[in-house]
Amino acid sequence: MTKEINKTRPRRSYLSTVFGCYCPRCRAGKLFRNNLTFRLKRNMEMNTLCPVCSQPTDIEVGFYYGTGYVSYIAALVLSGLSFILWWIVIGFSFSDNRFVYWITFNAVLLIFLQPWLMRFSRSLWLSWFVRYDPDWEIAKPNDLERINETQMNNW
Ligand SMILES: [Zn+2]
Repeated sequence: MTKEINKTRPRRSYLSTVFGCYCPRCRAGKLFRNNLTFRLKRNMEMNTLCPVCSQPTDIEVGFYYGTGYVSYIAALVLSGLSFILWWIVIGFSFSDNRFVYWITFNAVLLIFLQPWLMRFSRSLWLSWFVRYDPDWEIAKPNDLERINETQMNNW
């Protein structure tokens, strides 16, 4: 019965789950409490449990510590893309200021993307550890083995 319901329900793709910051287990619940904002602390407030399937978003001590590297790589990739785009549209030359303009443009771009980039990194990180569960409506999320309440959010 539930299986049939699952088949008919539209399922969000992996990429749209990660880019949209949805829970990787049900692909329906939102990971973050508030809309995207430049108030970084508020921006990073996560739901403790997925509001749809109750998947915990912090699955072990210091879980999101590694996201610093993810957002670093993501920023490098974005810089590479903006460089290529700049090259195609505006072109490059060291004899005028076009290189300096790109550096400035890229810095501003990264600053503006920062709130989303931080969320995206967490979303991507979590999606590597929590798999999509087509039976999320009847099955429970995996039990957490390595959790320490006193060390939650202590990173
Ligand atoms: Zn969920």
